[in-house]
Amino acid sequence: MTTSHAIVIGSGIGGLSTAIRLAVKGYAVTVFEKNERAGGKLGWFERSGYHFDTGPSLFTQPGNIETLFQLAGIPMEPYFSYQRVDIACRYFYENGKRIDAHARPEDFARELAAVAGEDPRAVIAYLKESAQVYEHVGKIFLEHSLHKASTWLHTRTLQALRHVGWGHLMNTLDSFNRSRFRSPEAVQLFNRYATYNGSDPFQAPGMLSLIPHLEQNEGTYYPKGGMIAIPQALYALACDLGVSFRFNTPVTSILQEHGRVKGIQADGQPFWADTVVSNMDVFYTWRDLLQDPGKAAAILRRERSSSALIFYWGMAMEFPQLHLHNIFFSTDYAAEFAHIFRQKKTYPDPTIYINITSKMEEGQAPPGKENWFVMVNVPSGALLSDDAAKEQLRAAILEKLSRMLGVSIEPCIETEDVLTPEGIEANTYSYKGSLYGTSSNARWAAFLRHANTCSGIRGLYFTGGSVHPGGGIPLCLKSAQIVDSMIPAAL
Ligand SMILES: Cc1cc2nc3c(=O)[nH]c(=O)nc-3n(C[C@H](O)[C@H](O)[C@H](O)COP(=O)(O)OP(=O)(O)OC[C@H]3O[C@@H](n4cnc5c(N)ncnc54)[C@H](O)[C@@H]3O)c2cc1C
Repeated sequence: MTTSHAIVIGSGIGGLSTAIRLAVKGYAVTVFEKNERAGGKLGWFERSGYHFDTGPSLFTQPGNIETLFQLAGIPMEPYFSYQRVDIACRYFYENGKRIDAHARPEDFARELAAVAGEDPRAVIAYLKESAQVYEHVGKIFLEHSLHKASTWLHTRTLQALRHVGWGHLMNTLDSFNRSRFRSPEAVQLFNRYATYNGSDPFQAPGMLSLIPHLEQNEGTYYPKGGMIAIPQALYALACDLGVSFRFNTPVTSILQEHGRVKGIQADGQPFWADTVVSNMDVFYTWRDLLQDPGKAAAILRRERSSSALIFYWGMAMEFPQLHLHNIFFSTDYAAEFAHIFRQKKTYPDPTIYINITSKMEEGQAPPGKENWFVMVNVPSGALLSDDAAKEQLRAAILEKLSRMLGVSIEPCIETEDVLTPEGIEANTYSYKGSLYGTSSNARWAAFLRHANTCSGIRGLYFTGGSVHPGGGIPLCLKSAQIVDSMIPAAL
């Protein structure tokens, strides 16, 4: 019988995977979650037969999920399955061009050459370089703590640094991409990867050119049942491992004594544990649970990643010209990001992302209809709950899609729900509704994210998108792996 108790605050993807890892390690784990179910930003609802995943829609690196089942010694198939997607994304440009990012690099390169006049060798070379940087550099920095001397002193780290080129650090992603491609379409397409962690390609470093490796080399996947199948599977696995969940139970403070964590306070009473892992946004953890306004203010010195305005539309007809993931680019990408990150304003001609899971699986929408997840990037903290601001963007989206698809979109909308930055913050306590914690806009941003430990409070750890190595499902799962590596085995 274990005598080691661990408490996890929050059941986002980082909290769920940490709970699984600690249970495997022999801890008696309790997860406290303020909402009525697990998943955090991975939410779900159904409206008139349309299924909507509310948050993430792009699934990469499924191996991170498989690892959790392997650690538990439980076969994954009964809980979770997925399939590879043949086209990572379909891109629509205002000049009428349409580019399919085929799963096979050779096909993708051929498509960019045929449609945009890009040099196919440049595309292949870019993806190879992306793979190299990810394998040699990305893996080390994403899978280890950057706050431990052992990471930096390890020979593999010193070797890794040799693979970092000047352009990866000193150039912005945009200038890095301009140095690799001749067509504006390829530059814009590869610039978009900065948004995968809520950043601006005109400020973020060329190092983000490792992100396409995950999508274009390793592949994108569709989980059976939609994205909600991910937290559902992890919740079921955690329950099988004996993790207990207290839903509708917000933690109100973290208890500590003489520089050591003692447990948490929730429901007006203490719960004791020698190990506490916070999956709550690190700003709110410091401000509200540790009551340390100084530390909380220091966290705000790092710029937040972008947020989003999302419309969930039940569409009364099918659109054969669309795929699972679709992007409708703005004409002036630089102006769009200047609005979002420098002026902190919404942009009147936003790049639009549409995700349609009914393209992959029956039952995601009524027959002959489609479930559209329509998202535009907006600044974190954008106030869009007021109808006028929302309406303006909605009108811009409808106008752009109708024009680019040649179909009047508004009459096709059968059901509509909306999520704003305020809604994202209310649902998950993510500061200002940012999707991915802090942005990567500064050259050294990756090294300045909050650590997974707390130097002043032993036994307290942090996991999830607001801490190292950052936001997005794969990185949140890696943050749990890093936390796991720091916590000793149960007594
Ligand atoms: C609209 C949208 C689109 C996205 N698209 C993608 C995508 O396509 N691919 C991708 O990989 N990522 C995407 N992301 C990012 C991804 O969703 C997040 O990085 C990731 O899910 C964050 O997980 P987390 O572990 O940080 O926890 P979160 O999901 O932030 O969950 C934190 C949990 O803690 C709970 N909590 C907070 N405070 C307390 C408290 N005091 N007591 C108890 N519980 C508390 C919250 O209720 C919540 O359940 C998207 C995010 C959004 C919102």
